[in-house]
Amino acid sequence: MAISNHNQTLLSERLLLLDKLNYSVHGLEHIHAFQEMKLLDTIALLLTTGLPGDHFAIAFDKRRGVEVVLAKNGTPTPEDLADAKELFVSLCNTEVRGVEDLFPLLVRRCRANVLKRIQKMLASILETGFYDDFYSRLDQRSSAGDPLSPSDIEREFPRSTKSITKGYTGQPLSDVLRDFFDGTVGAAQVVSEELEAKGFLDLHFLTSTIAHCCFLRQWVLVRDEGYQKVLRFQRCAEKLCRYVDDVHSLVRYAKRLGRPIQCHWVTDESLGIQIREEDIRISAETPLEALHRSSLVYSRFELPVLKERKPLIFEPWQRTVQTCLHAELRIILHFGQATDMEDYYRPIGASKPSCLCCLLWMEAYNRQPQGDIFWEARSCRKADATWALSAPACSNVKGPDLRVLDEEVTSKIFQLLVQALDNSSSFSKHGLAT
Ligand SMILES: [Zn+2]
Repeated sequence: MAISNHNQTLLSERLLLLDKLNYSVHGLEHIHAFQEMKLLDTIALLLTTGLPGDHFAIAFDKRRGVEVVLAKNGTPTPEDLADAKELFVSLCNTEVRGVEDLFPLLVRRCRANVLKRIQKMLASILETGFYDDFYSRLDQRSSAGDPLSPSDIEREFPRSTKSITKGYTGQPLSDVLRDFFDGTVGAAQVVSEELEAKGFLDLHFLTSTIAHCCFLRQWVLVRDEGYQKVLRFQRCAEKLCRYVDDVHSLVRYAKRLGRPIQCHWVTDESLGIQIREEDIRISAETPLEALHRSSLVYSRFELPVLKERKPLIFEPWQRTVQTCLHAELRIILHFGQATDMEDYYRPIGASKPSCLCCLLWMEAYNRQPQGDIFWEARSCRKADATWALSAPACSNVKGPDLRVLDEEVTSKIFQLLVQALDNSSSFSKHGLAT
């Protein structure tokens, strides 16, 4: 086996192990170019189909006007190229006002993802007990039957004051909340059957009004029983509402620019990528065998403890993992060591938060002394075994030394794996096992 292939197999195996051990770090990165990242995330959202493995990363290149630089995990398809072109032509069309005017593209391209978000939002109401909790809490509120004045409505529904004042002044809060909460469930069920613009905008209005109403915000603020179900619903609602709220902001940005937006795909050819996608065979029969290959278990950890704490690592897991150079790295390598950038902090927007290796590689890249750009990305620090080492994929890239960056990633992954195993066994030893 070639050395690079061996290193890749070992890395993929360790990433699978980290995933198996539920490695995760919570906490948000501080993003300096937050507004710009939000716009980029919205472009990624409009290109994300919801198909497994479909991941896009996007950055602005402002050196000659505004160019959008796009990359994908793997090679973009002809549909990706055509849809991105259509999106940017539409965004620059002065008659386009919001998502309603982009709906044919949204339905064709993002249908699976939109429906997934609607289903998750519905599940957060109907499958968690939140629906019943909502009404039992509302019944306990003594003022819920009092007629609402316009100022009450302004306080209760800051997001939709105007529309609600018109139709509900003088009616009790319980009636308004019932209309909107049941309305959200009903509209979500209808839109799931037939995804069309008017129904989707209605669903957005209902969902957004409920998610931001004072009744729910107070519930969360005092952390009363069931508040975590509220938070889950609000998170799901926010993800769904991005298709309207964030797209609206993107359309406004395009209008302010007032000129065509060029787009440029980073392709395998443009980066000189030698290895596109590669099938990596994970030959260890169980995760435990993979740990043994990494000389981890028998020297440091007690097997019985590990078995009790993580029984999953004894299950069969032979598989093939398809690795590729992740989209975030493609973006960074496309810019290379540019010295004529206006802004030091450059955000990368993406379909979903960047994986652990992308983040570690980016941190190593940012530490390079010659860097004129500080790359920023949101990351969930989740191990993704499809992450390909950069040096074997891009042997043509001159500076920085990609082998050094890969080495920093692989040694950090090894350290994190050791830590994750230490945690897995020490929790049990100290009686903290769950
Ligand atoms: Zn990644």
